[in-house]
Amino acid sequence: MLFTRLRNLYNENKVLAEEYPLDQYYPLLQNFISKEVDLGAEYLSPYRFALSFSKPSKEAIRFFLGLTDSIDILEQYYKYECDECGRINIIKDEEALINFKCKKCGFEDHLTTSDYLSEVKLLFKINEELSEEVKKNLKDNPLSKVQESSSAVLEGGADIDVTFKTAEELIYKDGKPIGKQAVDRDERMKKYRDIL
Ligand SMILES: [Zn+2]
Repeated sequence: MLFTRLRNLYNENKVLAEEYPLDQYYPLLQNFISKEVDLGAEYLSPYRFALSFSKPSKEAIRFFLGLTDSIDILEQYYKYECDECGRINIIKDEEALINFKCKKCGFEDHLTTSDYLSEVKLLFKINEELSEEVKKNLKDNPLSKVQESSSAVLEGGADIDVTFKTAEELIYKDGKPIGKQAVDRDERMKKYRDIL
């Protein structure tokens, strides 16, 4: 269940627990995941989360970065559009991101510093087991039409994916990192960038 997964994470991550209190954020996340899974989503957008609950998007992104500390909740993926053919490549492995090879056309790209920051997007994939639980739950207790119609719709052109750069800027707040995974990833990426 989401609650147990979240509570376990909160026991480990005190910054998350302090900034995003469990009693407030558990119901929001529960509601959001149910709605998104009901719409067929595999990946969750913090921008949609922000819109759903009238929160600042930066706050929502930082929350999601903290949630990636638990792969029982969210898994981090990368999204990169091929320069050659435009194919959206979804990549799990960081090495495969750095030594990019398009799944469709085979175009190879070594991401340079500036491209890297501006073009790589972070995706937040719902843990598969959790997603299955939510689906089962939805089958037993379908969302009412009222809830469905109130689910957030992003306006045309609005951001839906988090850029690497945005994430990088939100890892630290008042000197406190939101999560170990986010910090580790950022450090690895900086190292890769130095090598390039
Ligand atoms: Zn391509």
